Amino acid sequence: MKVGILGGGQLGRMLALAGYPLGLSFRFLDPAPGPPVEGLAELVSAGWEDQAALEAFVRGLDVVTYEFENVPAEAAAWLGQRAPVHPAIEALRVAQDRLAEKQTFQALGIHTNPFHAVDSRRSLDVGVARLGLPAVLKTRRGGYDGKGQMVLRSPADLEAAWQALGGVPLLLEGFVPFTREVSQVAVRGLNGDIRCYPLVENHHAEGILRLTIAPAADVSAAVRAQAEEAVRRLMEHFGYVGVLALELFQVGDELLANEMAPRVHNSGHWTIEGARTSQFENHLRAITGWPLGVTEAVGHSAMVNLIGTVPEEPRVLAIPGAHLHLYGKPPRPGRKLGHVTLWADTPQERDERLARLRQVLSE
Ligand code: AMP
Repeated sequence: MKVGILGGGQLGRMLALAGYPLGLSFRFLDPAPGPPVEGLAELVSAGWEDQAALEAFVRGLDVVTYEFENVPAEAAAWLGQRAPVHPAIEALRVAQDRLAEKQTFQALGIHTNPFHAVDSRRSLDVGVARLGLPAVLKTRRGGYDGKGQMVLRSPADLEAAWQALGGVPLLLEGFVPFTREVSQVAVRGLNGDIRCYPLVENHHAEGILRLTIAPAADVSAAVRAQAEEAVRRLMEHFGYVGVLALELFQVGDELLANEMAPRVHNSGHWTIEGARTSQFENHLRAITGWPLGVTEAVGHSAMVNLIGTVPEEPRVLAIPGAHLHLYGKPPRPGRKLGHVTLWADTPQERDERLARLRQVLSE
């Protein structure tokens, strides 16, 4: 079977690496020169609006999926008339707009932080009066890794935030005093079968994911049930096929949905070594209509993103249980260049290995 993937970044690369043992082959479409999948599979280098390129891309494909969330939904829909596209294009559309996303959560009875659509300076004032401060002002579209958002702490911050972000549709969110951030990664097959990975704990800095602890410690049955029920509702709502990630704020024993990613997700990278079946393999099994693999964790893992710089390989690999993944991207500040997964039998052992890795990364 031949799988077409929109976007040729590290997620696409890890999808292909998971698919080759299954006998799958791949073709990517990416507008950027030298993407991480270059040399790994067929690559069509063209813009999303290039119809001739889309035609060349889709020819002979059995199924199309995407690893890049900002693929224009129109391009995905055009391809959808020529080959099956999974996950559902409607999920892509909703995930591209923070307002539509939060409204969908609300309509499905999934608790979310309070929000207010902002499209003028006046509506920003109204939103702040409604939600109070602190609050977070975000662009509705195109933001990722903390880009396109500002925290408002005092009334004096409003004007500067409006100057910086205004001019495009915005969303104001109440600031959530979260206990921790968690995410639920799950997969739904063509036959409607749903499997959930264990809930994981995520640590961000400057809006970028730095560390995932998998499974998260101390997950009560109530919290687990909320997370699994939320992804089940979303997947059934969209008739979803593939991997979906839902990022949540945990406040005490309550979860509030922040955002969803209709694709394999950074907080699921640990599953390559830390789960019975990786999120990448399960995404491919889902979209090809094959049976899903077991999502149970094996031992205890920590996933650390390598951002901006890459350590010397031998120093990382000398840590027992360390697995290094480099994406082949030129270094740039704030850029995700790779990740390390530390695997261990116990949480204590994992934490010791994590301390060693932190030492290596700080040198
Ligand atoms: P996002 O782009 O929405 O995933 O935001 C990136 C990160 O900023 C989140 O993972 C949080 O650490 C923080 N953040 C975003 N929105 C809020 C909020 N409403 N309250 C508190 N922290 C937030």
